Amino acid sequence: MKIAVGLDIGGTNTKIILADENGEVLAGRQAATPSVSGAGAGKTEGDRIEDLLIKNLKDFMNDEAVKPLISHADLAGIGLGVAGFIDRKNGLIIKSPNIAALNGLAVRELFETEFSLPVAVENDANAYAYGERWIGTGKDIDNFVVLTLGTGLGGGHIYKGELYEGPFEIGHMIMEPDGRFCTCGSHGCLESYASGRAIVDRVIKALEDGAKSMLAECCDGNFYKITPDLVFQKALDGDNLSREAFREVGRYLGVGIANIINIFRIDAVLIGGGLLGAWDLFIEELTKEAFKRAFKPFSANIRILKSSLAKDAGSIGAAGLLFKKLSLSHEAVSQPVI
Ligand SMILES: [Zn+2]
Repeated sequence: MKIAVGLDIGGTNTKIILADENGEVLAGRQAATPSVSGAGAGKTEGDRIEDLLIKNLKDFMNDEAVKPLISHADLAGIGLGVAGFIDRKNGLIIKSPNIAALNGLAVRELFETEFSLPVAVENDANAYAYGERWIGTGKDIDNFVVLTLGTGLGGGHIYKGELYEGPFEIGHMIMEPDGRFCTCGSHGCLESYASGRAIVDRVIKALEDGAKSMLAECCDGNFYKITPDLVFQKALDGDNLSREAFREVGRYLGVGIANIINIFRIDAVLIGGGLLGAWDLFIEELTKEAFKRAFKPFSANIRILKSSLAKDAGSIGAAGLLFKKLSLSHEAVSQPVI
């Protein structure tokens, strides 16, 4: 049985798993994504983000529980899902808005050289979509999009059963021309209204304007310590401001989904990411807006579904993409020469 390592390198955490060819996870761990301010140049060895990422993976592979699994199987390679814009052909991270230290890193060559294994590189939300298509909710759905609702908002697209290898930066679809500033440098992006960061920004602004909320009592009055999880907890406790923050997420996601439905022929929208647990707080607004605004002939049979792989989808998808890359290269080699 072949196995592969899958890494999901996100803005906050890096998830590492070991999976077999059926997508079964044999081992896994999560660690904080190394936080360093600048790109490799000028840093001493050991301080650079690339060294820290490699150290994380070596620690995982040398773990007492993982080492025997690797030595008793055929380790096929490493799949990397990275939060950022990817140059697949050259295995480069062109730009990572949330992990600036990765900008310009030739990540495929780096891991190939270090581990002497084949490496596949993909955007993290695309890897997530592939994971859902491979063994998750999207297993039997040929055309769907995935929205990953976490600190930011990612997107991936499965078209005719295959991963669409485009940027699919749905979080940066512009909803309000003069709207809120976005981390990408533009204004009014969907991510500025529908993401963990957007939820926190919204409640902080309301609290600073004097809104009444259970959140006003928290964090010793330092509103900048508020997290999306805290707003979620207060929403469950019945706090109106927190509940409204999630309804706004639903409203904007619904409008964004209506745009997607009108552009692509899809059968389903899958929602995943770290804030999936708040589903009940946003799904009503989301569904109402999406189906009110989308063209009726296109939207009639579209399903809005939960991701089933939750936190592992990105790393499982990255491992799956490695297997896919190997099978494609094998097919290419096996083609008869005419
Ligand atoms: Zn943006």
